[in-house]
Formats: sequence, structure tokens, C-alpha cells
Amino acid sequence: MKITDSRPFIHKGNYDVIVVGGGVAGVAAAVAAGRHGAKTLLIEKTVMLGGLATVGLISWYEPLCDRCGQQMTGGIAEELLRVLIRDGFDSLPEDWKNKKKLKGNKGDYATLFSPTMGAISLDRFVLDSGAELLFDAHATFPVMKRGRCVGVIAETVEGRVYYEADAVVDATGDASVFHRAGAKTYLGDNYLSGVSHEIKYENAPKFIETNNVKHMRQWKVIGSNLYGSGHPADMPLLHCESAEDVTRYMIETRKMALEHVDEDRFSRDIATLPGMPQFRKIRRIEAEYVFTGEELNVKFPDAIGSCNDFRKKGMHYQIPYRSLYKKEFKNMLAAGRIIGATSEGWEITRVIPVAALTGHAAGMAAAMIALEKKTVSTLSVRKLRKNLKEQGVLFI
Ligand SMILES: Cc1cc2nc3c(=O)[nH]c(=O)nc-3n(C[C@H](O)[C@H](O)[C@H](O)COP(=O)(O)OP(=O)(O)OC[C@H]3O[C@@H](n4cnc5c(N)ncnc54)[C@H](O)[C@@H]3O)c2cc1C
Repeated sequence: MKITDSRPFIHKGNYDVIVVGGGVAGVAAAVAAGRHGAKTLLIEKTVMLGGLATVGLISWYEPLCDRCGQQMTGGIAEELLRVLIRDGFDSLPEDWKNKKKLKGNKGDYATLFSPTMGAISLDRFVLDSGAELLFDAHATFPVMKRGRCVGVIAETVEGRVYYEADAVVDATGDASVFHRAGAKTYLGDNYLSGVSHEIKYENAPKFIETNNVKHMRQWKVIGSNLYGSGHPADMPLLHCESAEDVTRYMIETRKMALEHVDEDRFSRDIATLPGMPQFRKIRRIEAEYVFTGEELNVKFPDAIGSCNDFRKKGMHYQIPYRSLYKKEFKNMLAAGRIIGATSEGWEITRVIPVAALTGHAAGMAAAMIALEKKTVSTLSVRKLRKNLKEQGVLFI
């Protein structure tokens, strides 16, 4: 039986910039676009900002420095770290807490944060930029006209709604806007793993001694580690292609989380369960430039900022603007863990600080496209870089 869906949609408004997805990348993009004066809407399908970093419990902000004392990443990525710890605990080293210099600080410019307190702080961070927020709205389809995304259809409690846009940022974490617009995308391989937050009696003395609640909310990796150790030998690598994949993954990782705390049920608890699947790599776009991770110390003329490789010390990279778009999609930008990268390049670009950095650049570029009537390939990269630099983005 062929089913067609001809329900009408409710036209809800016009925006300069629509950002789809309110993870760290989407938050950075919306803040950048809002501050640049673009009328901006951030559409999020859950009811909380932060994506994997909060809803997904990945509350460890990888270093903004090169792990040898030099800061690599600034701008909104740095502000975001501060916002996430504004109302909750942190583990930021003193040198970085009271940052006085760019070089020579001890420890890493990285921190634990509370995913719940962090999520609350993000609401204000976005609204203060002038951007508008829409929760509980699942963006289903981009409406395309001659290579431009002219609006986004979403499903909400009201029904099917439509928002027009002059520029669109895909910050969905799974590139679903680009994918549904017909762009070429690639799926990622994943091990069976996740992160759980446990509360245990055995950690109570440390909490009482230090009066620091971070000791009660213990970050635990369950299943495989980053490199596949612990992945069941007889299990193929996982992809996130369907709701069935997500369902299987959620049931399996929840079972593992329970097994991990399998002790006297009165002496422990799981603080919160992730509200989204903790796949590291879902889908990335084929961009004009595919970041490989071999670009150590390369200075790109269209760089949108610098970052490290969180796994190693002293690694200096720049991310090119071309990794954020495919020129056939004239007013669409990718932000966060979906930008153009190889599997190895992806390891560098997908973490929180780099997702926020690319979000900052994508939001700024989208605002410029909308306000200056440009496309992804005709906007002035020189001006984009100047704007980013003025907002604290570092080019190392
Ligand atoms: C197990 C694991 C451990 C990790 N460890 C670390 C770590 O220690 N430190 C670190 O820095 N990084 C870590 N990462 C990586 C990091 O957490 C993420 O890659 C990063 O947070 C991605 O941010 P994002 O904004 O690009 O995407 P996401 O966080 O995925 O955000 C996407 C947002 O878009 C929303 N969305 C999706 N589709 C739609 C739609 N159609 N309509 C509306 N909204 C939509 C989602 O609900 C979500 O809020 C880890 C990841 C995993 C899975």
C-alpha cells in the first residue's frame, strides 16, 4: 500500500538564519548568528540544550589547549566552557581558571561539568545573544529551491510547521538536514560503548571531605574504550542508520550500565540516563575540503580557527572553512561532529571544543550569507576570519 502524506503545514515565520540542533555546535552557531544581528531560530528536538554534552552525559570538556600549556581554541568555544561551569562544579586547573596568559599554564584547559546545571546555563547563553529557541520540534525536511534551503519543516505538538530561512546551519550531529537535502554523506563506525554517571556510597567520604559534589557524580565509561578494547568480539561495528539501530543500542548500553553498578541496590544509583544515543560518529558530510588529520601545523588561508588533537600532546591544527560546506548547497553550513572529515580527521573534529569552534564559524558565516545576500562560496572569507578573530578565535 502506497501512503502519501498531504497534511498542510502551518507557516510560522521567517528567519535570517535557522540552526537545526541545539548541541554545543548548534548553541555556538545560534549565539554567533544572533550576536551578529541575524534574526535567528535554534530548533531542538529534545527539551534541553547541549546535545551529547548534557542530554548525552558527555560532561568532560576536552582541552582548549595543546596539552603543553598553550591555548589553541578561543572564541565561543572558550565562552561555552565557562558557561557550562558557571552554575555547577568544575575541575579546571587553577592556572586556566584565573587565566592570565596564553602560554605556559599548568594542567590542561579542560574540565568536568554538571550536565544538568550546564544545560540550564545554556538557555540563557542562547537567549542573551538575541537568538530564539524552539524545543520539542523535530526538523524533518529542508525545503530546497535551486540549490538553496529556503526553509525547514518541523513536527511539533501543533502539527507540521514551516519556518522560512535565508541561511541554514545543520548542527544535528547526524547531518540529517544535508542528508535529506540530497547531499552526499558518510556513516561512521562505532564500538559498543557509552558513558554512565554513577552515585556510589564508596565515594561519599571523599565528597564529605572536600564538599565537592563532583566526587558523587562519577563519570564511568561502559563497554568499549575509545580504541575498541572491550567491544564484543562477535559483534560487528555499529552504525546509527535507523530507529531500530538506536533502540538496540540504547537497550544494550542501559543493560551494561546496570551490570556495572550491580551491587547492593541501596548503596548506589545511576544519576541520570542519557536521553540520546552515545554514538561517537553518526554521519558526516562530503565537504569541499575533507579534513584528514594529516594537516599538522598547516596554515590554511581559509582557516576558521585552531584546535588540538585531544589524544596527543603538542598537536596544532587549523580547520578550513571549506570543511563546513559543499558549494552546491548554496546557503547551508555544517557545524560540529558532521563536518567534512575522514575517519581519522573525525577523531579530531568531533569533540566538544572543536564542535563549538566550527559552530561559531558556521553561525557567523550563515549570518553573513543571510545579511549580505551571499552564498557559502561567495562570502568574503577574509571578513569571516576578521569577525571570528575579533571574537577571540585563535589562529595558531
Ligand atoms: C561515548 C562518547 C564519549 C565522548 N567523550 C567526549 C569527551 O570526553 N570530551 C569531549 O569533548 N567530547 C567527547 N565526545 C564527543 C562529543 O560529546 C560530541 O561529539 C559533541 O558533543 C557533538 O556536538 P554536536 O553539537 O556536534 O552534536 P550533538 O551533541 O549530537 O547535538 C546535536 C543536537 O541536534 C539535535 N537534533 C538532531 N536532529 C535534529 C532534528 N532533526 N531536529 C531538531 N534537533 C535535532 C539533537 O537532539 C542534539 O541536541 C564523546 C562522544 C561519545 C559518544
